[in-house]
Amino acid sequence: MSMRELVVLGTASQTPTRARNHNGYVLRWDDEVILFDPGEGSQRQLLHTGVTATDLTRICVTHFHGDHCLGLPGTIQRLSLDRVPRPVAVHFPAGGADYFARLRHASSFHETAELAVEPISADGQRVALRGGVLEARRLRHPIETYGYRLVEPDGCRMLPQRLAAYGISGPAVGELLRAGHLDVGGRRVTRDEVSVTRPGQRFAFVMDTGLCDNVYALAEHADLLVIESTFLASEAALAAEVGHLTAGQAAQVAAESGVRTLVLTHFSQRYGDARRFADEAREHFAGELVVAEDLTTVPVPPRRVPSAG
Ligand SMILES: [Zn+2]
Repeated sequence: MSMRELVVLGTASQTPTRARNHNGYVLRWDDEVILFDPGEGSQRQLLHTGVTATDLTRICVTHFHGDHCLGLPGTIQRLSLDRVPRPVAVHFPAGGADYFARLRHASSFHETAELAVEPISADGQRVALRGGVLEARRLRHPIETYGYRLVEPDGCRMLPQRLAAYGISGPAVGELLRAGHLDVGGRRVTRDEVSVTRPGQRFAFVMDTGLCDNVYALAEHADLLVIESTFLASEAALAAEVGHLTAGQAAQVAAESGVRTLVLTHFSQRYGDARRFADEAREHFAGELVVAEDLTTVPVPPRRVPSAG
């Protein structure tokens, strides 16, 4: 079985605290292992999670504020130290290319790893992966910022009993799949009669942003949504001013977008008790709710139940 899960490296915005490392997340999605927004200390947090630098296939940076990128120098150098044998793709806002160049070569090291640098230069830019399409959407923050989502297309699952009932087997199954129908025993059998839709899964990653249409576009029908909730409603005015979300806003987005598992993170250090984020979110969102803690794992929920074809 393929593994799809989120590994949380850190959950603090702006500055680390005693209990929370700077931001950082890994998404395992079949053969893709994607590092999102590595803040300071991400290399060491990885050690605690069992994800190695060699596992990483891709790095996605939402924007170049320190809590989302200061882990790049260490992580990138580690790729070379561990002699990662294949190119690692890196995505980040194209407007921050100078920051990326400096972080990439922040200090002297023997560079052996190959980075496939693919900056995001347009809202809606897409990258085709084996397990779905990675899409970037522009967010509302003082500097150029993109959120990401990974969308697996719907598939098709054949029903062996129905196939047998129509006497379809062997190469005829492939023929039916390709053509969408097959003539057997003087009757036309369509693909829908012998299969069900296998719903694709969706992951969304929404970091620093004020509320905007693209937050909803990214969150739409996400099985797992990771979203910043830097503030509580008591600081709603400040949140709007500096381009951030409150826990209540994040939960409202999740509720309106049909999200299944909601992961809140990127907390301001001003709040001591994380239960307040859960309490505020619960007023709006009834699904699976996770107030992220460092070094925890959140599974992508099982596929939605297939609908009859
Ligand atoms: Zn920021």
